[in-house]
Amino acid sequence: MTASLIAAEKRFYHGLVHHGLIIPLGVDGVFGRGAVFEEVVRGFSQLITTEAADQNAEALHFPPVIPRRLLEQSGFLASFPHLAGTVFSFEGTDAEHRELQHAVDDGADWSTHQTMTDVALASAACYPVYATSRGVLPAAGKVVDVSSYCFRREPSQDPVRLQSFRMRELVCLGAPGDVLNWRAAWIERSAALLESVGLAVKVVTAADPFFGRAGRLLAANQKELELKLEFVVPISAEERPTAVMSLNYHQEHFSSKFDIYTEPGVRAHTACLGFGLERIAMALFKRHGFDPSAWPFQIRSKLCPSRC
Ligand code: 5GP
Ligand code: ZN
Repeated sequence: MTASLIAAEKRFYHGLVHHGLIIPLGVDGVFGRGAVFEEVVRGFSQLITTEAADQNAEALHFPPVIPRRLLEQSGFLASFPHLAGTVFSFEGTDAEHRELQHAVDDGADWSTHQTMTDVALASAACYPVYATSRGVLPAAGKVVDVSSYCFRREPSQDPVRLQSFRMRELVCLGAPGDVLNWRAAWIERSAALLESVGLAVKVVTAADPFFGRAGRLLAANQKELELKLEFVVPISAEERPTAVMSLNYHQEHFSSKFDIYTEPGVRAHTACLGFGLERIAMALFKRHGFDPSAWPFQIRSKLCPSRC
């Protein structure tokens, strides 16, 4: 990374902290947020709700932990073992507890005193949707509106790369043609939505950060088939734009793992679009300034009405 990139990241980070928008907790990529930051997140979420009103989407909310089995079944560990987070906990006796506490007091590694549990941290908001959509879909398919905290083990000094962040997703499950039409419509609609608040996004074909040598092939294939589109905008640094939203077309990836059909024996296709809510808020602070009272009235009134 160039010195000017690092300096730009640092400037933006200090601006967010100085204005009370984010609160450092001592670990890279894990922040608290102030009231104004949260108001902007709520404001933008409401714009998504309004834009998606015609989808008749089922609105679901899932916790930031999912069954470990779901992480295993979804293929996330196969592709992104380096990003997953699994919950471990203590299940021992009094004597083993004393050993654990000694290790903690000594600043030693206490991980060996813990056991893997049946829960893991959610890595994407949409996974529980596939797991709960087994069987035959309604004739027209369905759209689900889902949100949750997501965890990805990607510590970074860049404030737009969080280990724990909120994703709001629309997930479409249906026949291949319907899913492709849905995706085409939402490329336009999401770009217009982001532009309506002053974010001039560029749509680029992208690849997920698949692990290892086999992962390089998967990434090349994903790019060639244009399965992942990212909506990028400069946030921390002009020369390195960040994805504030992604549109992922999974074809049969999830329907084959979770037995989702459009009619008996015919596998459905799925696609999801995911808005990264913290990144969108940060992009807005970058674009319009750290103090929403100085934002253009039209944007302030939609996203931060307390500053009007
Ligand atoms: P995807 O599941 O396609 O990787 O991510 C969907 C969206 O979640 C991204 O477009 C982005 O806005 C958001 N996102 C992904 N990774 C991170 C991250 O490390 N930090 C933050 N703040 N948002 C992320
Ligand atoms: Zn998704």
